[in-house]
Amino acid sequence: TSLIKESNVDVLIIGAGPAGLMAANALAKSGVNVRIVDQRPDKVAAGQADGIQPRTIESYGLAERLLREGNQMHMAAFYNPSASGGIELTDRVPDVTAPSARFPFEVTLHQGAIEAIFLDSMESLGVKVCRPLIPTSIQVSEDDDQLKDVNSHPVRVSFFLERRFVNENLVVLRNLNPFDDHEESEIVHAKFVIGADGAHSWVRKTLGLTMDGEQTDYIWGVVDMTPDTDFPDIRNRCAIHSNNGSCMIVPREEDKVRLYVQLDDRNAVDEESGRVDKSKIGPHELLDATRKIFHPYSFKTPESFDWWTIYIIGQRVASKFSVKDRVFIAGDACHTHSPKAGQGMNASMNDTHNLAWKLTQVLRGWANLSLLQTYELERREYAQNLISFDRQFARLFSGKPRTEECMDGVSHEDFLKIFQTFSGFTSGIGIHYAPSPITDPSYQAHAKKLIIGQRLLPQIFVRAADSRPIEIQDLLPADSRFKLLVFVGDSSDATRRDRIRRVAEDIRDVVRPYSPDGLTAVFEIIAISCTKKADVRHNELSELFGCHWSKILLDDKDVRGKQGGDGYVNYGIEPSVGAVVVVRPDGYVGMVAPFENVKELGAYFVGFMKGLSPNM
Ligand code: FAD
Repeated sequence: TSLIKESNVDVLIIGAGPAGLMAANALAKSGVNVRIVDQRPDKVAAGQADGIQPRTIESYGLAERLLREGNQMHMAAFYNPSASGGIELTDRVPDVTAPSARFPFEVTLHQGAIEAIFLDSMESLGVKVCRPLIPTSIQVSEDDDQLKDVNSHPVRVSFFLERRFVNENLVVLRNLNPFDDHEESEIVHAKFVIGADGAHSWVRKTLGLTMDGEQTDYIWGVVDMTPDTDFPDIRNRCAIHSNNGSCMIVPREEDKVRLYVQLDDRNAVDEESGRVDKSKIGPHELLDATRKIFHPYSFKTPESFDWWTIYIIGQRVASKFSVKDRVFIAGDACHTHSPKAGQGMNASMNDTHNLAWKLTQVLRGWANLSLLQTYELERREYAQNLISFDRQFARLFSGKPRTEECMDGVSHEDFLKIFQTFSGFTSGIGIHYAPSPITDPSYQAHAKKLIIGQRLLPQIFVRAADSRPIEIQDLLPADSRFKLLVFVGDSSDATRRDRIRRVAEDIRDVVRPYSPDGLTAVFEIIAISCTKKADVRHNELSELFGCHWSKILLDDKDVRGKQGGDGYVNYGIEPSVGAVVVVRPDGYVGMVAPFENVKELGAYFVGFMKGLSPNM
């Protein structure tokens, strides 16, 4: 006889890789009742993804630990065949060409260390990964009334558990066969489910979501180790095209290095399954291939390898990212591609970064369920762009180099062009969401250089109360609230101050109906004046906007004249006009409202938020 346990949860996350952990941490921080399960008995110890792009460093509050623990890649070097045989240096260029990046470099750190940042944060909030645990069935209700009611639990997920003792420690093992004897079963009723269960996603397959795209012929080996070599660019990111194949170097934390080596050995592929047969090829064979590519530089066999793998690249995007906006798939579960542009983990974390605030807003009753449709809209288009970039990049990377004997090959100029043209994309800085209810470009002209649909440009302002230089991005944490940046113009002018007073009142009137839990619970107002610090009266402004003293900023240089200034110019805002910039909880510019017509804010929020009637 088995015991059936039933429980309710707001959000159930299946899979605790980067996508699942990002979601669990963000939701836990917002106070959402969340549960996360994973089939692995333990977290990732080594290997897998390792590249963190500039946008990821600036956006999730991860920067401090990433910068402390990770390696930084500032330079990219390119090697090509030399006339005397072997390879030679062709070029060295900055690794990232994204002028507005706050951190203009990539950080490399192994996936387990990145996951640990989320795990530690979650633990401090009382959320732990339940492992090893695998769900056995998932059903989404067909009942429309239930689906429309945000407080209902229309997704039913079951688990069959089997308890065993290993070395006197109790472990809960999965038992995949529901007809076997099992001591305990659990049925979880969830309001929402996130399938973040990787490239072979069970959630995706069980719900019948297909992947569009194809497997490529490119086979790559990856090996992590501490190298012993005379190759001069071993601490730079390198792309090496040789007559013996291609290789990419990714320098890593401490003295470690990752090598991506292209293999042309189809013998290693099992014809039936299409998967690489790891018994036929191992790290020593990868190192042999590396030596041929690196000639004339030497590469000694290390005492040990930290991690290695071999895989065939598939370039696919899921046909849909959600089922009835109650189950969502995220990360590798909905897009797979080559790892060389360092996108996998970043794209995966970005998916759930995009989803978590929307779920929070809906669960709190602030936004309509329809807000959730923008997840697929935004992230599927991004995934498609990622695959089309990856096709070009992987083809050029895997192609033969151009030489006198092979004039059709890939030239350094072609490769560099793609590398630099797509830097905005690969750095994450250039991600641009299309117009939708949450991305309204109507008033772009009021802040010409803040592209609506892109992340807010970093900029140092000076805090009015104490002249401390502040990076504006640090005032925009992903805490589920919309931020309203009010560019008031020159607040030292008495006539202008009267206008600011009226605008401040209007803004509060317009957003109050969308603030069922109080205005500051849903919105954060930050006012930015272009008055000089010698003339500012910050308390007057904080009173007008009803905000904390620390939210009044100046577009001026700091006291040493080194940081800050030119914020209005950099954002394309006319000081004599002003503007209100709406920053979404994920840091993207959602809309700009004219200073003289802040009622437009209402037209934006009514598109996806629940407005209270004025007498409520
Ligand atoms: P994942 O990190 O795959 O996480 C999915 C999680 O779901 C896993 O913890 C898994 O145990 C769990 N899970 C799966 N099925 C179930 C289930 N039914 N029930 C419960 N839990 C489940 N990227 C690179 O950039 N470079 C590389 O060299 C590289 N090598 C890789 C090697 C391997 C072996 C793998 C698997 C991935 C590699 N990647 C690499 C890809 C990179 O790890 C992913 O892009 C990134 O981790 C995606 O994050 P994710 O959270 O979407 O998925």
